[in-house]
Amino acid sequence: MELSQKLQDALNKQVAMEYQAAYKYNGMRIYLDDLGAHGATHWMTLQTKEEIQHAEDFIQFIKSVDGQVELGQIKKETTDYDGLASVWEAGLSHEKEITKSIEDILALAIKENNYAAENFLRTYVDEQVEEEDNFRDVLELIELAGDDITAMFQVDSKLGQRK
Ligand code: MG
Repeated sequence: MELSQKLQDALNKQVAMEYQAAYKYNGMRIYLDDLGAHGATHWMTLQTKEEIQHAEDFIQFIKSVDGQVELGQIKKETTDYDGLASVWEAGLSHEKEITKSIEDILALAIKENNYAAENFLRTYVDEQVEEEDNFRDVLELIELAGDDITAMFQVDSKLGQRK
């Protein structure tokens, strides 16, 4: 099932977006590491790797339908945040942008009757529900801990258990 130029462009843009997410989360990981929050650093390291895997999945899909992969530009990312809550707030908001982007590409695939792309993208709609939920769960824990240092240590320890 061939890709239209428009769909191929959109999928390639998503590849860059997933790498951008990895780049962003790596900036967060560096910040968290500097902060000495080892569990949070571990969580974000895994998230960074997951985004690279997402980019790889999109690349493989494009290749599997004989499309042309293009690696677009990624932007500079900050390593400067203001506490754990600000990190997960920025992460959740970025995941929402990614969800919107994937939904837009899915809408295009449906419009073009590209069933292969549609099936692939639907698995990513599910993935995005999970991603947003993960970020939201952590943000809630951080907000619950508030200024309580002991509670924050417990949150960090819990984040360190992510597999
Ligand atoms: Mg992703």
